[in-house]
Amino acid sequence: MKDKTRLVHPPHVLLPEGNRPLVAPIYQSVKFEHDTVADTLRSLRGEKDGFFYSRSANPTTRQLEQTLATLQGREDAIVCSSGVGAIAQTLIGLLKADDHVLCFVETYAPTRSLLRRTLQRYGVRHTMLSIEDDAGIERLLESTPTRLVIFESPTNPITRIADIGHITRQARAAGALTVLDNTLAGLHQHGDTDVDLFIHSLTKYASGHGDVMGGAVIGSAQQIRKLRPDFVLLGGVLDPHAAWLIQRGLKTYLMRYEAQSDAALHIAQYLEAHDRIARVHYPGLARHPRHELAASQMQHFGTIVSFDLRAGAAAGDRFADALKLFAIAASMGSPESLIIPPGLMGPHDLPAELGALAGIDPGTVRLSIGLEDPDDLVADIEQALAAI
Ligand SMILES: *Cc1c(COP(=O)(O)O)cnc(C)c1O
Repeated sequence: MKDKTRLVHPPHVLLPEGNRPLVAPIYQSVKFEHDTVADTLRSLRGEKDGFFYSRSANPTTRQLEQTLATLQGREDAIVCSSGVGAIAQTLIGLLKADDHVLCFVETYAPTRSLLRRTLQRYGVRHTMLSIEDDAGIERLLESTPTRLVIFESPTNPITRIADIGHITRQARAAGALTVLDNTLAGLHQHGDTDVDLFIHSLTKYASGHGDVMGGAVIGSAQQIRKLRPDFVLLGGVLDPHAAWLIQRGLKTYLMRYEAQSDAALHIAQYLEAHDRIARVHYPGLARHPRHELAASQMQHFGTIVSFDLRAGAAAGDRFADALKLFAIAASMGSPESLIIPPGLMGPHDLPAELGALAGIDPGTVRLSIGLEDPDDLVADIEQALAAI
């Protein structure tokens, strides 16, 4: 063999039986081979285990899918390149022209835009209500044939809580699927409900370090088997290296989520007692309008705390500028605490009457609590509130 050839075909280092790496390696390979054509064909027909092409399946992304499904209390999952990718590919996989979708004004803005802009072009209809409008949800599902309900709990930014049992009962009675974007609540929560499919942005708490993007849909083996061909065709695959980073992040997921959630409650309680603040939105507070419901559905109330400043929007922007430990940045679930000031918030994509239903005040500020010492975060908030 000449050098050129040898370099293209380096030796395979196989591990002896009974010897394995403690941390699974990154299968940074697009292609996988079988020894013979017959084995390749058997594998492609599903008669034999094996991998062929990484857009369809890869051992590193497969390991992540299995970890996520177990944590969410379901049978299987598909990962893809972002949370929005998971939402778009799931909706495209489940919907066809003339289907009707129930969604909510409090839902993540790109989800609303997917329905209002993209899927509308393909003839998918939708209705938008408020997530707290239990009677409206019941009326709509009884009167309008609906293919699926997509919702969130807690909602972003003002942490409204969906009555998940009510929604899944009404949806099941009406023959509609339920899709819960469970990103804010996290992978360990809401698994005991009757939700059909969970969607997560892995960019947030799963990876946990603000350095990698990913998304997932999680559900029964049957639901996931039906969705997978569309995910493979739409092509928004998660790179094995990103999957490996997310798998690594997940090792500390529960500890991070719990610590960040505990710190968020501590900060919410501090803010509640402050005279410059009209209202604090945090489901862990007894004064939250749906605290009892949240406590019956959740073990941890999450890491997002928002509040309405009495002095309004300009004071909110000054508050954000005065903070030293909180970065003015999008997203959540990072080790660093983050702030979204009023100037960067609001349901700007919605018509005014729907936007008003979302209940975001001109002085609403959103905090995402990180892994710093909570006492340092409180001290930083205190000096910034004094500065406005
Ligand atoms: C961030 C987020 C998404 C989108 O996730 P990306 O990974 O940024 O695409 C979807 N839903 C919710 C609730 C989110 O917070």
